[in-house]
Amino acid sequence: MSDAIKNLRIRFYGVQGSGSTFPSRRETAALQEVMDYELLKLVFEDLSGHMNENNRFDRSLEDYLGGPVSRKTLLKYRERFHVAPPRIYGGWTTCMHIETADGYDIVLDCGSGFRNCAKDLQKKWGDKKKRELHIFGSHSHFDHTEGFDQAGVCFDPRNTIVIHGNYQYLYSLNSYLGIFSQFVPEDVMGLQTPINFSNMPAKFKGIEIRDMADPVVTARNKSVHWGLHDVTRPFKIGDTKITAFFVYHPALCLGYKIEHGGKSFIYCTDHELRHGEDPEAPGQKKSDAAEARLVKLAMDADAMYRDGQYLRSEYDGHTGIGSSTPVPRIDWGHSCIEDVEEMALNCRVKHTYIGHHDPNREWSERNWIDEALARGSKGRVEQIEFARAGTIIDL
Ligand SMILES: [Zn+2]
Ligand SMILES: [Zn+2]
Repeated sequence: MSDAIKNLRIRFYGVQGSGSTFPSRRETAALQEVMDYELLKLVFEDLSGHMNENNRFDRSLEDYLGGPVSRKTLLKYRERFHVAPPRIYGGWTTCMHIETADGYDIVLDCGSGFRNCAKDLQKKWGDKKKRELHIFGSHSHFDHTEGFDQAGVCFDPRNTIVIHGNYQYLYSLNSYLGIFSQFVPEDVMGLQTPINFSNMPAKFKGIEIRDMADPVVTARNKSVHWGLHDVTRPFKIGDTKITAFFVYHPALCLGYKIEHGGKSFIYCTDHELRHGEDPEAPGQKKSDAAEARLVKLAMDADAMYRDGQYLRSEYDGHTGIGSSTPVPRIDWGHSCIEDVEEMALNCRVKHTYIGHHDPNREWSERNWIDEALARGSKGRVEQIEFARAGTIIDL
């Protein structure tokens, strides 16, 4: 990866769905065992290259190590071997950072991954004068907002943070933090977090993405503490174009298409493609309409992040996830891995990252699903993999 950003550099800080999760003690031990085995294999391969004809070592241990056994010589010896770290999918909840070639910083969602993202932003900005962050939120659910009051960028008075999102996204952040209204009702103060606007000195500005043609929304949400923007009008952040679109989820939820210099990235978290058995059910019709919007925008995209929380058998309730109870997950607002694969191929998306992993999904399972996706991708233009925190995409 070169240092210069061609168009967009996207970094995943959180791809976990529903709640942060990390390998259990048992899984950590299993991962450690794999690493230990790989390292020992390399060490013994190295040693076997130094045997004489009697199958004995041809030199002393000190010779191998370049000195007596010590922390220093052992660590030096260790440097000769590279053991690939285990693939960790998920961890922190949804957050990704996009750096544009013309120097803008954009963040998609503020799940628990936002804390580390904000740390990196503060470090990157250093003493920079222009300190502006553009956040685009999908929806109000906790796994997309929980990192906000822990993010260093909110506590620096030099920073300006522009938050774009639907009514519920802005309303949820404002309701307990008061960042737009400079007010939190007494019965809500301290309910979710000890933090509120009075100890968040950054400057906050809200822009609500609204379907202006929807008279119900407009009549209901008349007085707001932020600006309004119609969903059909794309945003321009420098040379980057951002198109918002409504997806299908139990809460009002937005996806985004981000374009720069002819390259495009689709961000579509928390969207349920299926609804149930009845194709005529109102929910299925809404879901189909949302999927059609997504498919149109995703056609020939360079990269896509999409929610694929379940396998079909788990969604239908035939099997549990990990050791969880099998229950139908219809109306829980998420898509199936098999459906995302099908859609990605139909849309000829060059690289698809399936995320919003279920917290019940064990690490070994995440590995074999990823391996199955890699086998399916072999020799194909359209690559599909399981999303991992730390992944960097250069477009
Ligand atoms: Zn979510
Ligand atoms: Zn959600």
